[in-house]
Amino acid sequence: MGYETVIGLEVHVELNTATKIFCSCSTAFGAKPNTQICPVCAGLPGALPVLNGKVLEYAIKTGLALDCEIAEVTAFDRKNYFYPDNPQNYQISQLYRPICTKGRMTIDTKEGQRTVGIHDIHMEEDAGKLVHDKGLSCVDLNRSGVPLLEIVTEADMRSGEEAVAFLEKLRSRIRYLGVSDCKIQEGSMRADVNLSVRPAGSGVYGTRTEMKNLSSYTAVREAVAYESERQIKLIEAGGSVIRETRRFDEKKKESISMRGKEGAEDYRYFPDPDLRSIYISAEHIEEIRNSLPEFAEERTARFIRDYCLSEKEASLLCREREMAELFERTVSLGAEAKSAANWFMGETLRLLAVRERDAGDIRFSAENLYKLIKLIKDGVINNTVAKEVFERMFDEDTDPEAYVEQKGLRQSSDEDEIRKLCLKAVNENPEAVEDYFGGKDRALGFLVGCVMKAGKGKVEPKTVRAVFGQLLEDMKE
Ligand code: ADP
Ligand code: MG
Ligand code: ZN
Repeated sequence: MGYETVIGLEVHVELNTATKIFCSCSTAFGAKPNTQICPVCAGLPGALPVLNGKVLEYAIKTGLALDCEIAEVTAFDRKNYFYPDNPQNYQISQLYRPICTKGRMTIDTKEGQRTVGIHDIHMEEDAGKLVHDKGLSCVDLNRSGVPLLEIVTEADMRSGEEAVAFLEKLRSRIRYLGVSDCKIQEGSMRADVNLSVRPAGSGVYGTRTEMKNLSSYTAVREAVAYESERQIKLIEAGGSVIRETRRFDEKKKESISMRGKEGAEDYRYFPDPDLRSIYISAEHIEEIRNSLPEFAEERTARFIRDYCLSEKEASLLCREREMAELFERTVSLGAEAKSAANWFMGETLRLLAVRERDAGDIRFSAENLYKLIKLIKDGVINNTVAKEVFERMFDEDTDPEAYVEQKGLRQSSDEDEIRKLCLKAVNENPEAVEDYFGGKDRALGFLVGCVMKAGKGKVEPKTVRAVFGQLLEDMKE
């Protein structure tokens, strides 16, 4: 019998506000433990929280970007649990009146577009961090009170691919909004995967398990593959799935039972009496709606139209706001769109992957990319050298013009020089010359390659070919 996998996601996104959600402590990363705390985020009795207006604004922005209804009245609740990283013994979150509900986002799948419902988005505070060292466990509360959004989807995804497509698009939207950098690896975006299986065609959901805190797209794909198979095997063998929380071991690629699933009742949620309900006016919502950016899809369509790029090129460029904007600035300086696009889709993406960085870390300026493109166009350097220059520029935003001069990278169109190199190649490779005269055109390519190598990429292939043409013609006679 065929089975269908059913997936719903709970995604935590850390907001990039300067201060915490209920106090004015800094959220800056990397400070010494417990240097960014106050009575509120350290959970001292009697301290009173006050909502950071930016968090509310960012939550509404995110809700509008996901087509949600924004609540007229929203309020905070206490989620009670005991853990050493949680100084109040409750987390301030939202259950009864979340800020956003009933949203949706479409994703592209193999079978066409699919709409994933957004059940709700709520605001909450992060917990502190436990640091285990030399037999001691210490608590660092710098993270305590850092604002988070939790985005809960409906159980509308049917494969690991779809879950990843959703996460990628969500990440793109949130980064376009500028409310979070959504770095999965660094934990500013984390996904919990809820998964069940059911016989294909069945109208009811099976029992689900939840896998928490997956920290990469690969982990999401692998977790879905492993857990679907585990559940199917269990059912086929006559067993049944238990509702529980599981941990996915990213090394062993298997999920392990952690604890029985706790329901909302286990947390004894109740409205937080220290925080007032918040009334949101229609005008305020409209004001925020008007500030929404052009997202990747619309921008892709515009790039295809305005810059004559292919669908694939445009969508790749627009996946990251930083890249799309840098591209447009480079073109506005006078670079040809196609050449500029190629630098992003080729070397930029390659180096981002090699250096394990993301588009937010791009350091080179549009001015310098424009200069580089111009150096190639004017024949000052060839593509091989340009790649070397680009790499420097990518790492240090080096001025390509200055770098080319300083390193003496101008390509030589000095024919005498090239002629010498060509003669040397001919003398050293008599078989290739023979092959060439025997009608094998590839042999010429080989000889040109030898000269390019000897000239350390500084000679222009066009000139080399021309010189060889002449030289071999002469030899024939
Ligand atoms: P809880 O409050 O217990 O965490 P929720 O109703 O908030 O449960 O759902 C949490 C997530 O689980 C949501 O993303 C939802 O879409 C997903 N989900 C609910 N039921 C199923 C199911 N049978 N299979 C897969 N995912 C499910
Ligand atoms: Mg939940
Ligand atoms: Zn504080």
